[in-house]
Amino acid sequence: MTGSLLTDASQRLEQALKYVSISEDAIEQLKFPKASLAVSIPVRMDDGSLKVFQGYRVRYNDSRGPTKGGVRYHPNVSMDEVQSLAFWMTFKCAVLNLPFGGAKGGITLNPKVLSKAELERLSRGYVDAIADFIGPDIDIPAPDVYTNPMIMGWMMDQYSIIKRQITPAVVTGKPISMGGSLGRDTATAMGAFFVLEAMMSKLDKLPQETTVAVQGFGNAGAFIADLLFKAGYKVVAVSDSQGAVYTPKGLDIPSIRQYKLSSQSIKAVYCEETVCNSVDHQSITNEELLELDVDVLIPAALENQITEANVNNIKAKFIFEVANGPISSGADKILEEKGIYVFPDILVNAGGVTVSYFEWVQNRSGFYWSLEEVNQRLRQKMVEETGKIWGISQELCVSMRTAAYVYALTRLGEALNAKGTRDYYTNGAIY
Ligand code: NAD
Repeated sequence: MTGSLLTDASQRLEQALKYVSISEDAIEQLKFPKASLAVSIPVRMDDGSLKVFQGYRVRYNDSRGPTKGGVRYHPNVSMDEVQSLAFWMTFKCAVLNLPFGGAKGGITLNPKVLSKAELERLSRGYVDAIADFIGPDIDIPAPDVYTNPMIMGWMMDQYSIIKRQITPAVVTGKPISMGGSLGRDTATAMGAFFVLEAMMSKLDKLPQETTVAVQGFGNAGAFIADLLFKAGYKVVAVSDSQGAVYTPKGLDIPSIRQYKLSSQSIKAVYCEETVCNSVDHQSITNEELLELDVDVLIPAALENQITEANVNNIKAKFIFEVANGPISSGADKILEEKGIYVFPDILVNAGGVTVSYFEWVQNRSGFYWSLEEVNQRLRQKMVEETGKIWGISQELCVSMRTAAYVYALTRLGEALNAKGTRDYYTNGAIY
C-alpha cells in the first residue's frame, strides 16, 4: 500500500486480523483498492477563463455489491485521502451489512470561492469525467464534506443526460424532488445519536449528567449537537472551521443553528457565517475544544484531528467518531491505554450510508417511505449492529474499533471466499 493515510488506515485491518480466520487470498485482496481513477476537469469560470481541477474516484472493494461512497470538495483532497476513505467505506458497509462495497471521490479545491454556476459546471464536468466508472449497479456516489443535495441533484441529472435515461439510483443524497429519501439529511447524525444512546444506556450514563463537545458544525455536527441538546445532554462546546464557542453552562444549540442559518450570506451554496459570533461564550480554538474535560467528545469535521501530537491532552471519557478517521492509529493505542472509550467511525457515522442505501432501494422500487419508516429502520439497524459489536468487544476484550473491524472482516471474508480468486477470464474480461 502507498500513502501515509491509507497505510495508517490499514493498521486497523492488521489489528483485527489477529482475531479473524479468513483466507490469505481474501486478506491480500483487501490490501489494495480495486480501481482508482484520476481525472482533470476543465471548467469555464465566470470571468471567461478556463481552469482545470483535479478529481478522483476510487472503488476499493466490490465483493459485497456495487461500491458506495461520498464525494468531497476540499483543498486537501488527494488520491491517498480518497483511497483511505474508500477503504473505510468498504468496512462501514460490511459493519451495517449493506449490500455494497466501498468507494469514495473528491475534487481538490476550495469550493467556497466558486460561484454557484461555477460549482454546477464543475460538478457536471466531474460526472462527465467519471460516468463510465459509476452507475446504479457499479458505484453510487453521495454527499460528503462540502457537497450537498443540490450538488447531488446536478450529478444525477448529468448522468441521466449522458445515459439518456432518468437514473435516480446512480447518486444518493439528492433533493427530495429528484428522488431523495426523507431523513437522508439528518441520517448521519441520527445514526450516531442512536449509537450514542445505546452505549450510554449500557454504560449507565444519564443525559443530564453528560457534557459533550462537538467539533464541526456542518451537516453531521450541527444535527447531532441539536439531537443531543433536545435529548437533555449538556453540549458545552461546538466549532466550525473558524473556531469554537464554549460555555460550561451548556450552549443553546437551536439558537446557534438559527443564527448560523439566518445570518448567513450565501456565497455559492455555502454559509459564510461562523458559530463564533452567536452566543455568550468563551472563544476557544478547535485544538482547545478537543482537549476539553468533557464526558463525550464528538469529532465531526475532518480526519487526523487527534494524533500522537495532542493525544496526551485529551480528557474526554468517550469519543464518538462522527467524522471519518479523526483519530490516527498511533493515537488510538494511547487512548486505549488511557482507558478512553472510542466508538469508531465505521459504526458511528454509518447512518448516512444506511439511509443512502434506503434511498437507492426506494429509487429502484419506485416506492417511497415516510420519515417515520426511514428513522425506525435506521434505529433498528444501528442499535442491532452496535449491540453485536459491543458483544464482540466484551468477548474478545478488544476495543470497539477492533471489534467492528473483526465483525466487518468476517462478512468481507465470506464474500471474497465465495467469489474465489477470479483467476480465470471469459472473453478477456474478469467477472
Ligand atoms: P460539512 O461540510 O457539512 O461540515 C463540515 C464542518 O466541519 C463545517 O462546519 C466546517 O466549518 C467544519 N470544519 C472544516 N474544517 C475544520 C477544522 N479544521 N476544524 C474544525 N471544523 C472544521 O461536512 P459533513 O457532511 O458534516 O461531514 C463532516 C464529517 O463527517 C466528515 O469527516 C465526513 O466524511 C463525515 N461523514 C459525513 C457524512 C454525511 O452524510 N454528511 C456521512 C458519514 C461521515
